[in-house]
Amino acid sequence: MPGFDPSCVALPSAHFIQGQRIIDPGALSVSRPSDGTVYAELPMASANRVDDAAASAHQAFMRGDWSRCAPRERARIMRRWADLIEADIDYLAPLEALGSTRPIDQVRSWDVPYTAEGIRFFAEFADKHGGEVAATAHDHLGMQIAEPLGVVGAIAPWNFPLSMTCWKVAPALAAGNTVVLKPSELTPFTAVRLAELAIEAGMPPGVFNVIQGNGPLTGDTLCRHPYVAKVTFTGSTVTGRAIMAACAETGPKPVTLELGGKSPQLVFADITDIDRTAATLAAAITGNAGQVCVAGSRLVIQRALFEPMIARLGRLFKALTPGPTWQTGNWFSPIISSAQLARIESIVARSRDAGAELLSGGKRYERNDNGYFYQPTLLHVTDCHNPAVKEEIFGPVLTIQTFEDEEEALTLAEHDVYGLAAGVHTADLGRALRAVRRLSTGTVWVNRYGRSNDYILPTGGYKRSGIGRDLGRAAFEACQQHKSVLIDLDH
Ligand code: NAD
Repeated sequence: MPGFDPSCVALPSAHFIQGQRIIDPGALSVSRPSDGTVYAELPMASANRVDDAAASAHQAFMRGDWSRCAPRERARIMRRWADLIEADIDYLAPLEALGSTRPIDQVRSWDVPYTAEGIRFFAEFADKHGGEVAATAHDHLGMQIAEPLGVVGAIAPWNFPLSMTCWKVAPALAAGNTVVLKPSELTPFTAVRLAELAIEAGMPPGVFNVIQGNGPLTGDTLCRHPYVAKVTFTGSTVTGRAIMAACAETGPKPVTLELGGKSPQLVFADITDIDRTAATLAAAITGNAGQVCVAGSRLVIQRALFEPMIARLGRLFKALTPGPTWQTGNWFSPIISSAQLARIESIVARSRDAGAELLSGGKRYERNDNGYFYQPTLLHVTDCHNPAVKEEIFGPVLTIQTFEDEEEALTLAEHDVYGLAAGVHTADLGRALRAVRRLSTGTVWVNRYGRSNDYILPTGGYKRSGIGRDLGRAAFEACQQHKSVLIDLDH
């Protein structure tokens, strides 16, 4: 597949309200992580603009041509929307890759088709759950009727702009809600295109609105808006806390929060194929340059495997090819912003000052462009309080700690703040299942790392990694409320 010319992508630098692009003066500069160039000025929705979008979503909900339409009709429109997204790949994929960390090859082969199929997955729920009949006495009929909530405020991060938007928006729409989405100000454009394609597919105007802006002004105003019945958010734990407070102060209103992680990978000496495990470990921290909520950022390995594993990881890290997201053949992503690059450098420096031993990487790539590329980094750590073990780095930085026995492995795996995911690599089924029971994380992968493309398993955090679940039936049901009805059959 060809790459693309980054100067030739038309940018929808606008909000999308009531089925139309709304253009305000640019207020935020947006840069490309691949070369640091400012390539767009983005409007920032004021409180009045947020109000326009929330009112548009509220009126659409009350109108009922989505919230009360036949569920199969909603599903049909969403399936057509997914088809249009796939058909739009020659525009949508460059638009996604241009200013994000997602290399064009991966956007074409994964982000776009995964987003479309995710919309189809949630569309299938639209007519599958209308509520249930309760076990009341025979002279009464009791029912719980499933209904949409109203206007859902959705706030998305930058690390996978298309697919994270799908996770937030698709279950809410399938359940009959209307939506106001605020994409990340760092990756704002593909959301507008998705909303335009929804209109083309037949979704009524006002059902899916997009507002542009930063978190503290636009995002916070959205969360506090009186028309917003629920907020679904993916991002950092710190922001999740602020959003929950805003929703408590102006509601209370329900939240779904998908937050940060610091996920361990436990590797036992009985693994049968060390090369395969090494490849899994490397991919788990270098995919999207480690800018993944479930990045496997803490390797906890049985002592006998320490030397052979670091040799393999070093080779795998060196083989990666960083490059602009618009060139084909690049697998390794840039870091999203200069601020995030500086943050990674600072945590690595603090971790080394605190005793971490640098085994590979530990610096930017030397390049003749201004791209934000940081080398895959391996830090040997013996102190559990080291910053590299404690803090979510959100970059390609892997710590390695060794253990003697299963008990020590499970103790090292535990994190006092995060509980998003964990990996266990062992040939011993009993050991794997003991670990599954002990690990305080929302997901455990055994002899693999990362989600499959099935959408059916819910994803979310234990501890401060989140509240509620994305994906699966759980995500759909979290966008509904249930009305209890009791009918006296003798009158
Ligand atoms: P972030 O929290 O900085 O921002 C996320 C979104 O929240 C952005 O759209 C931002 O504008 C908005 N925002 C910021 N402050 C706000 C406020 N006060 N009120 C309302 N909105 C506000 O996160 P990020 O840097 O975009 O994404 C990286 C983080 O996301 C990491 O911590 C990562 O682990 C997490 N993440 C979690 C999952 C998951 O499924 N658990 C998935 C992807 C990313």
